[in-house]
Amino acid sequence: MRSLAAFSTLALVTVANACGDAHDHAHESPSALRKRLFPQAQLTKPTRPLEWGDLNIIHTTDTHGKYCWLLGHQHLSYPEPNYSGDLGDFASFVEHMKQIAVEKDVDLLLIDSGDLHDGTGLSDGFPAGGIDAHDTNQFLKQLPYDIMAIGNHELYDYINTWDMYTNFAPALNGSYLSSNANITIFDENNNTVSVPVGNRYRKFTTRKGRRITSLGVLFDFTGNDVNTTVQPVADMVKEQWFAEAIAEEPDVFVLVGHMPVSYDNWPTVFNAVRAVHAETPIIILGGHTHIRDCNQPDGRSMALESGRYMETIGWLSAKLGDSSDSQKNITFSRRYLDQNRVTYEYHTQQRNNSFDTAEGQNITQGLQELSDKYELSTLFGYAPQDYTISRNPYPSNGSSLSLFINEAAPYALTFNNTRKNISNIMITNSGSQRFDIYAGTFDKNDQIAASPFLDAFVYIKNVPLGVAQQVLPALNAAGADERRKRDLGSVLQQREDELWKRGYVDRRYMDWLEEMDRRHDGAVKRASQNLTLGYVTSDSCPGVGDDTLHAPLASYDIPDFIGSDAPSASNDTLIDFVFVDFIQEQLLEILNEVQNTTTYTDSDVESYTDVLSNQLLGLYAQHAWN
Ligand SMILES: [Zn+2]
Ligand SMILES: [Zn+2]
Repeated sequence: MRSLAAFSTLALVTVANACGDAHDHAHESPSALRKRLFPQAQLTKPTRPLEWGDLNIIHTTDTHGKYCWLLGHQHLSYPEPNYSGDLGDFASFVEHMKQIAVEKDVDLLLIDSGDLHDGTGLSDGFPAGGIDAHDTNQFLKQLPYDIMAIGNHELYDYINTWDMYTNFAPALNGSYLSSNANITIFDENNNTVSVPVGNRYRKFTTRKGRRITSLGVLFDFTGNDVNTTVQPVADMVKEQWFAEAIAEEPDVFVLVGHMPVSYDNWPTVFNAVRAVHAETPIIILGGHTHIRDCNQPDGRSMALESGRYMETIGWLSAKLGDSSDSQKNITFSRRYLDQNRVTYEYHTQQRNNSFDTAEGQNITQGLQELSDKYELSTLFGYAPQDYTISRNPYPSNGSSLSLFINEAAPYALTFNNTRKNISNIMITNSGSQRFDIYAGTFDKNDQIAASPFLDAFVYIKNVPLGVAQQVLPALNAAGADERRKRDLGSVLQQREDELWKRGYVDRRYMDWLEEMDRRHDGAVKRASQNLTLGYVTSDSCPGVGDDTLHAPLASYDIPDFIGSDAPSASNDTLIDFVFVDFIQEQLLEILNEVQNTTTYTDSDVESYTDVLSNQLLGLYAQHAWN
């Protein structure tokens, strides 16, 4: 079976630890610290103040360990400076906002919709210099989160789920919610029992006395590890506990979950609540697809999704009024904030020298020490320009995919290799590249961010060049085929797609970027050069959602597989056919389809080099960027 799902998902679960891509510039301090306090890049100010209601929410989602990027996204090429805040800055922002809420005499909640982990924990994460999410979660715990929901990335590895169950959830005192996600443990009598990772729901009262009922729902995820369980959302709403949780009418339902606000199962949860409470305000805070999105299921509800990677901070406010207006539409507002100090200082009316709180500075300091401890600052070289995954076409000089497979791999994989002088073709999957490379310093953290997977390279010797050359196009045609099927399918079929169920969201994110580029005349806006690059959003909620105006990010369709240039030789020249072991099954299958002289099997595949995919860019940078 030609299964694209298999390797896409594997890519997700073999990714390095939660904080392996932390940016460590500790050795550069205090100059680096100065840089952070007075950003070198001219950041654009927000367009207008936030609209406050009587209930207000600061929302994060899909942070994927990026909250431990020590000094934020630190590169100077846009859009990176937009996200240059760090977790300490965010903590200071939250503290100031809490104070403003007190002054305005309104409620302010802090909520997260899951995916704290990048993939796996330290157990099988990055071998040297990895930071366990366990360590960095200590800092996250210092923030006054009212609700945090579990994400699918907390369930790929039992060890992570176990850490959330034993360490994280207890510290959150009932605020860590997993309505439909369980972990199997031994009870005191050594019997196995399946229990919620956190709490199923939370009922609490705000500072202003508002009664809130919350859930923490996970989409219908099937890629979870053994001894963890995810109950389908449609079954969850039929549970006795669910009926009991929603029976009593609160002032507001705040339904949190790791589930996208469009094209997924929120209507199932929403309708179940509406069936009992026709008019109670409902706020939905979703996540997982890494996009900025918003809609209103009805006049007394709003659903918000707030991006990814500590790039976006979501804001939602509701003017609930008093209970006598229970028939009227509620005035909601939402805003997508860029995660940087200029944004934070603008909205809290603080200056650079008054913004940092003691708590915020402690967190920054603590992360700095942790980062030091793990020595993540090894400098490999200086990237001469930006290289992007999908903001440049593939192949091109600006494509990080071209850089990886056509420049870096041919150097790094043949370095100290006895096969060096034998012509080759090299192939990998484009999903192996996870983050853009920016001009300037390229250190170990940049390497892990760009290419985090620990995959080996293997090869088949004596493959005729003419045969090897047919494999890449055939692999990509197979991938495109799967996609076409998906695009033609209804939303329902799409939802049931295996890839989707196993947690693969890149395609949805890239489709979104492409749509936003198209809807906002991206090419024209980028050419005019009076706006910096960044997210530009259209959603289904009233008014403009983006807090800061940008020119949209370019977006090109990239193939599922990428390959190095073929050597110039005749078709019958025998070459080394090199590929990442991760795609071995698909590749052998295609290789046997494009010719019938030889039947290739696993026994034809040998190890090509000891260099793993996550070391490749560093080796290349040491060679070419110094
Ligand atoms: Zn995510
Ligand atoms: Zn997710």
